[in-house]
Amino acid sequence: MKELKRKQAEFPFEDYWMYLEYSKGIKRYRVCLHHKTNKQRKKMSYARYLLSTKLGRELEKHEHVDHIDGNPLNDTIDNLQILSIVENNRKYIKQSGRALVTTRLNCPSCLKEFEQSIHLVTWKRNKGQKIYCSRKCCLDQTSRKSISLEIQQEIYKLHQVDRLSSYAIAERLHIARNTVMKYWK
Ligand SMILES: [Zn+2]
Repeated sequence: MKELKRKQAEFPFEDYWMYLEYSKGIKRYRVCLHHKTNKQRKKMSYARYLLSTKLGRELEKHEHVDHIDGNPLNDTIDNLQILSIVENNRKYIKQSGRALVTTRLNCPSCLKEFEQSIHLVTWKRNKGQKIYCSRKCCLDQTSRKSISLEIQQEIYKLHQVDRLSSYAIAERLHIARNTVMKYWK
């Protein structure tokens, strides 16, 4: 980044110097704020900076700045509004004409057929995760994976009597360390 001319930032950032830069990557104006007396740095979109100064407060993480006319370069103050992530996504889907694509699959727990977003299904499958119809089915299935009483007692003994670490126990019994810590007291 080349050295840019600094300006006094406006309230609520009055303790900062402000540098305005154009990011070619995301094709937006961005603001870098450098605290005047300590090393604190803040980066945000120019739109976010403008709306903060208009409202006189810093925006919360969940508050997204939306360009009302859909043009991300139109940073005039009347073109900016706050939307939640959900509202923002809804607007995006509406504008891009892309509806949520769904697929049908069977729940590995209750075996019923259900519908789910194809993005979520692909994402979970890539991570090797199973896809359940509901949170309840997911919990049912994962708690059923509990281990035998024999192993539970072995974990307890190895920890309380032999004083082995959770890592050592997990390695010896060929089980996950999380499982060890569930049963070792
Ligand atoms: Zn189910």
